[in-house]
Amino acid sequence: MQLGRLMRILVTNDDGVYSPGIQALAEAAAHFGDVRIVAPDVEQSSMSHAVTATRPLRIRPARVAEFDAFRVNGTPSDCVAVGAHVWGKVDLVFSGINLGLNVGSSMWHSGTLAAAKQALLLGHRGVAFSAPHEGDEINYATIRPYVDRVIKEVLAMKELCLINVNFPMAPRGVRWTHQSVRHYDNRVFPTKDPLGREHFWISPVALEAADEGTDRRAVEDGFVSITPLRLDLTDHAALERVRSDLAAE
Ligand code: MN
Repeated sequence: MQLGRLMRILVTNDDGVYSPGIQALAEAAAHFGDVRIVAPDVEQSSMSHAVTATRPLRIRPARVAEFDAFRVNGTPSDCVAVGAHVWGKVDLVFSGINLGLNVGSSMWHSGTLAAAKQALLLGHRGVAFSAPHEGDEINYATIRPYVDRVIKEVLAMKELCLINVNFPMAPRGVRWTHQSVRHYDNRVFPTKDPLGREHFWISPVALEAADEGTDRRAVEDGFVSITPLRLDLTDHAALERVRSDLAAE
């Protein structure tokens, strides 16, 4: 019997290469394949899918436990692009574990999820992992069995996939969910800096509770949320309506 080569799993994040979350994810991933860490040299949270196009990028060694690890002076999606190029062949990209949830509308600005999106754009499966934190800490021991379980479920999927995973503080099961969409008040707090200039803090509050079946609701109820996503943002029902209205004119 010929043994195939091990799966190559690129691990990245948006909290920076020295975040404890990336080491926890790399340790879990190492049970499933060859792991290489390629992550931003400084925090890039909320950078969404920003791509560095006006300056060169460098990839340099980093020290993360015993892992093959590198830091890039760019965004999470830069790390996936450069990391996959340098490694040659990548099968899977794992991003996280982010310090903080990425449910609902935060998917629009999450750098953690953008790294997984970049993976899919390059033809690799991408999985984003996020967890709530107390201070700057995540309770990795509590969520670790569920990280393994999620990885197994994702590996069992045949198709190329983009998956967003969020852990509750203390998981009691797993739910497959859809994205929560809520509206927000536009709460902005004015304040003054030490020189007396006006500044603002954007701090919106949701107007509605999370619906049944959503990622946010699952996490609120103590379940690990797994949401399959797609790259096509088109509102197909609206497109269909407009086209049939135009045809009827
Ligand atoms: Mn982050």
